Amino acid sequence: MGKEKKEKNISAAVCITCGAEHESGDHTYTCTKCGGVLEICYDYRYIKSQLTREKLLNRKEYSLWRYLELLPIAEGSKLSPLRVGWSPLYRAEKLGKLLGLTRLYIKDDGLNPTASLKDRASAIAVVRAVHAGMTTVACSSTGNAASSLAGNAAAMGLKSVIFVPERAPKAKVTQLLIFGAQVISVQGTYEDTFRLSSVAIEQWGWYNRNAAINPYLSEGKKTVSLEIAEQLGFKAPDYVAVSVGDGCTIAGVWKGFKDLHALGFIETLPKLISVQAEGCCPVNRAFATGAPIAWMEENTLADSIAVGVPRNGEKALGAIRESQGLVVNVSDEEILAAMRLLGSTSGIFGEPAGVTGTAGLKKLAEQGLIPQDAVVVSLVTGNGLKDVVSAQKTAGSPLCIPPDLSVLTDVFDR
Ligand SMILES: *Cc1c(COP(=O)(O)O)cnc(C)c1O
Ligand SMILES: [Zn+2]
Repeated sequence: MGKEKKEKNISAAVCITCGAEHESGDHTYTCTKCGGVLEICYDYRYIKSQLTREKLLNRKEYSLWRYLELLPIAEGSKLSPLRVGWSPLYRAEKLGKLLGLTRLYIKDDGLNPTASLKDRASAIAVVRAVHAGMTTVACSSTGNAASSLAGNAAAMGLKSVIFVPERAPKAKVTQLLIFGAQVISVQGTYEDTFRLSSVAIEQWGWYNRNAAINPYLSEGKKTVSLEIAEQLGFKAPDYVAVSVGDGCTIAGVWKGFKDLHALGFIETLPKLISVQAEGCCPVNRAFATGAPIAWMEENTLADSIAVGVPRNGEKALGAIRESQGLVVNVSDEEILAAMRLLGSTSGIFGEPAGVTGTAGLKKLAEQGLIPQDAVVVSLVTGNGLKDVVSAQKTAGSPLCIPPDLSVLTDVFDR
């Protein structure tokens, strides 16, 4: 293994629990003092000397690599060729009107190469793994982290070993197999799956893409916010609605806006809206009650956020609190209704966890908790084709008729 090369833009990896500082490096995962989750901290003065808004605006790189100065990628690293990021930010006028919001936007991250926002994290993981001289990457996942790791690994010529809980939807597991991953389907919960993967990764020395352990992943996820701000003309929205499982995504969303704020590229910060499923909402419950995060059952069809023991719960809570954000829980029925609503008003098909943010936003808007003229972004985190079985529960069925115009006319006239 080559000597670790320091990234010039990073100052330290700081433990969010005890504050201990670590040097950023290939094998920096969790705090060596207390086992806590690490946060990658940047040298904003150095970055400011390298990057300006004008420089960004003139860039032709339309992927997350657009923001290299703000990423934990060592100079000279081989970048993944897959086009991750730079997903569209749509003005959702019709949906906005229905919700009573005049400036509503949808960021469709289902358009990433493996069809979820997780690609942003996996792109960082595979580039760092190759740079560290690793040949195999591994993770445990409810599905999307896995398919994104498998796809991004394939693009970089890495082997991938993936642990999934057996309830993971077929489409997602199929995606893994097509990407050539070694798939291990664990008969147990996500928690059981995570634990088995952790010991196996340690035993075989693979590159660890588990979001809780690997602090570089939320650095990839933060690029969604860098894009949103740039797409809004270097302005932060007033609210961003995010579906929350492990909490790595919402923490990353916050980090992206904070980076831009620290650089002086945006003047304000958004309030985060943390949306979870009623049947599995340990982060939101902790936020609402002020009690520590406690285990919950995983009772929701939104499998991507069915996380009973959130691995980045503290980071997520910190982000929601710091942003003076809101939390809201939604039922599976509300999630399915949001799927249909988003599809029929905007032409965007999200998986259940993908539209959970929109479901929560709808609920808050209907309760009058979001100012009508606020700039609101709802993140769609995953594509609906990943979980057609859930979609079928709300899609309805087609009219079935013989190939006969008179029958068709009858049906339409009725
Ligand atoms: C993983 C995932 C989330 C939640 O991200 P966390 O980091 O687990 O909070 C939301 N939606 C989709 C589609 C996901 O795959
Ligand atoms: Zn610590």
